[in-house]
Amino acid sequence: MSWMATERFGARTAPGGLAIVQELVNTHGVPRYGADLLAGHATAQQWLRAAAGQWAQDHGLEPPELSLSATDLDALRELRTVVREMLAIPPDERSTGPFHATGALPRAQVRLVSDERGRVAMVPVGTGASWLASAVWSQILLAQHDGAWSHVKLCRGPRCRTAFYDASRNGSAVWHNVRTCGNLANLRASRARRKDANQDPRQSP
Ligand SMILES: [Zn+2]
Repeated sequence: MSWMATERFGARTAPGGLAIVQELVNTHGVPRYGADLLAGHATAQQWLRAAAGQWAQDHGLEPPELSLSATDLDALRELRTVVREMLAIPPDERSTGPFHATGALPRAQVRLVSDERGRVAMVPVGTGASWLASAVWSQILLAQHDGAWSHVKLCRGPRCRTAFYDASRNGSAVWHNVRTCGNLANLRASRARRKDANQDPRQSP
């Protein structure tokens, strides 16, 4: 059990089950880091079982029995695109206003349960891609209510765009990992500055 997609990138994961949202986005392929985990059925199935197992463990639940049908793979890729587009919006531009029923799309079903102390939880339902959609949309709902949603971002690296959790106090992190994407950007910027300085006519003899 692990957040295997996200761990490949060394990105910070969101606390609790919210990390499953990042995990879906981070199944993407990035050169040098890893291949697209949703490119084929076998890797997608392996990833889904690991992610669902990790999610269930974090919630004190038994790991669900999941299997992917042929159409589930397309459904997973579509859901990944939808969630990535939502996260591509900078946190301060994401709507925090009231829900608008006009144009609302049905996304997933969930089961609500309560324990003997009256605490309530959402439990995903479904057998494959529908289970994941149920978990992902539930976590997005909870995160939009407790404010954690604004901490989930995509890396600024144009070829990276890995989803990470910004735990900085002022919410200013832009790289999924400062040691990799952050350093690379610094290196490029300093090379560009050196090039500019070399081409500056005032510095020519
Ligand atoms: Zn990055």
